[in-house]
Amino acid sequence: MNEQQSAQKTEPKQPYVPPEHKAVAQAHSQRDYVVLAIGIVASMSLMALVFMTSIASFIYGAEMAEESVVVSDPVAELVGNVIGVGIIIAVVLALILTLIRMMRQQMLGNALQVEYSDYAWLREWSNQVAGDLHMPRVEIMVTQDPVINAYAFGFASPYTIVLHSGSIRWLTHNQLKVVVVHEMAHIKYHHTQIGAYLNLLRMVPALGTINGWMLDFWSRRAELTADRLALCYLQDAELVKESLIGVHVGPDVAKSFNGIARQWQVYMTNNYFNRFTQTFSSHPFLVRRLQHLDVKQAVFSSTWKSVKPSKSTVSHTKDEENI
Ligand SMILES: [Zn+2]
Repeated sequence: MNEQQSAQKTEPKQPYVPPEHKAVAQAHSQRDYVVLAIGIVASMSLMALVFMTSIASFIYGAEMAEESVVVSDPVAELVGNVIGVGIIIAVVLALILTLIRMMRQQMLGNALQVEYSDYAWLREWSNQVAGDLHMPRVEIMVTQDPVINAYAFGFASPYTIVLHSGSIRWLTHNQLKVVVVHEMAHIKYHHTQIGAYLNLLRMVPALGTINGWMLDFWSRRAELTADRLALCYLQDAELVKESLIGVHVGPDVAKSFNGIARQWQVYMTNNYFNRFTQTFSSHPFLVRRLQHLDVKQAVFSSTWKSVKPSKSTVSHTKDEENI
């Protein structure tokens, strides 16, 4: 008995995993999935309509030709068509997923992987965030591109976040944190996975552009969700807004996009034509993202720590403050 007890005691303990950060649940939105489902159903319906119309014209044409040509069994023809379409979908999907894997290989071959570099602050901080958010394995790469931008991709672990060197050059460390959490959100909430499969609908000949337009209603919501995770995790709305402004208008005039400029542009863009124009963009307009952050800050800030990391306590560790 004693031996059993001692054997139990010597069993290796499971490492302690801290609970998922509450920001993940706060920023999450079920409505995103509703909009996604509507986009997919609308795309499929459009394709079905076109397909049925083709069938109708085919049947009509067949009836016209029936007198002169022997028509093959229409049921067999339909089954054959369905199998043919299934094979095409499988091949295209395999091609899309292979290309995404090749993108990762291209980054591995050409970019700096932060994990294995001595770019220590980002490596250590991103490991901490990945733990807090219960992320799957994420690789952060830095590639030479002067445009301030970043993106995430992948449909299975490991996922990849690519930071342009322009972001490293022009954003402060804290602004860069906003960008990284935003990109992590795209992985955490499966946006990159969903996006990979939605390419099937976006690549349909002739209808892909219309499908893309309908699916981008979800894409824009996904962007706002990613902004919300950055807001709820970092708990500093001004910092998140600063970062977005830096990415959109560039480092030279970012500081000039002050409160009055923002309010004026919000006022000027508050009309249906502007909202209609936005439907042709994969991302919400900057003014809408800033507005969204203001609204969500008012909702969530009461749940944040009483000692909120302000701009003075969140040390700007980068020597040159370009923005
Ligand atoms: Zn994004």
